[in-house]
Amino acid sequence: MSAVILSGLEISNDIRNKLKKKVESMKQNGLHPGLAVILVGNDPASRIYVNNKKKACEEIGIRSFEYVLHEETSEEDLIQLVETLNEDKSVHGILVQLPLPKHINTDNVLLKISPNKDVDAFHPFNVGRIMIGDYCFLPCTPAGIMEIIHRTGIDLQGKECVVVGRSNIVGKPMAMLLLHSNATVTICHSKTENLKDVCRRADVLIVAVGKPKLINAEYVKDGAVVIDVGMNRLENRKLCGDVDFESVLEKASYITPVPGGVGPMTITMLMKNTVMSAELSK
Ligand code: NDP
Repeated sequence: MSAVILSGLEISNDIRNKLKKKVESMKQNGLHPGLAVILVGNDPASRIYVNNKKKACEEIGIRSFEYVLHEETSEEDLIQLVETLNEDKSVHGILVQLPLPKHINTDNVLLKISPNKDVDAFHPFNVGRIMIGDYCFLPCTPAGIMEIIHRTGIDLQGKECVVVGRSNIVGKPMAMLLLHSNATVTICHSKTENLKDVCRRADVLIVAVGKPKLINAEYVKDGAVVIDVGMNRLENRKLCGDVDFESVLEKASYITPVPGGVGPMTITMLMKNTVMSAELSK
């Protein structure tokens, strides 16, 4: 039997419609959520991400402030801008688009964003809160994945969940959110031995590696839920996930496509965090 395809686009539209209504009523009460996005340099992929965030703000009614700085901007100038935005009452979320140019220390910059406006949840203070399970802002991609999983109706308690990838923005916080849902969690990475065997244990398999079609049907247990975070641009310019969609489709119970799976959820969760931040600012 073929897996059910989990459309992140549909879930995302549903959440965006709810956010839109919420923002309308907030505006009537004199509170207009605002998101500031800072882009340093001309990286084309970053430019696309920033444009998509701007479009999402427009759609939901969030005020968006865009700062495009030239490639040679100094770390001091960037930090100065962040500090100005920290004080700006019309800004409820601050996002510095990564990666930053090499001469800028990313950790130094992220540390300067006020934890109260850190809608990406990258500040060590918020990372710590995610670890403890007492969070304010949820990290956007893992939060989007949790929304997708909830829609399957699966109760994660006691389930074997395997996360492939241990990055600070996806793999590690993802594992924490699953753990807080009482799943039994395994994190895999490039040094993991017998990856196939470990993945085959998973009731829920989440793949965030950045290698096209790394995971095929042989890595998947019958009836598993498979979430593909990977976004790989192939030579023909097409987007491809880390999961071999066609082969896994026949084995999984649920699967997310690329594009149209996790991707749209990430931006929607960013919008949700911005709206929440505005509410908390009251
Ligand atoms: P990183 O490069 O930061 O991390 C990749 C992880 O994969 C590392 O932990 C690495 O292990 C692990 N890895 C690499 N090769 C293997 C392998 N052969 N077997 C097992 N593990 C391996 O990537 P990100 O987490 O930032 O992103 C991962 C993917 O998700 C990318 O394609 C990215 O574009 C996409 N992405 C998509 C988002 C969305 O919204 N849909 C959001 C963010 C990312 P080690 O630590 O040992 O090096």
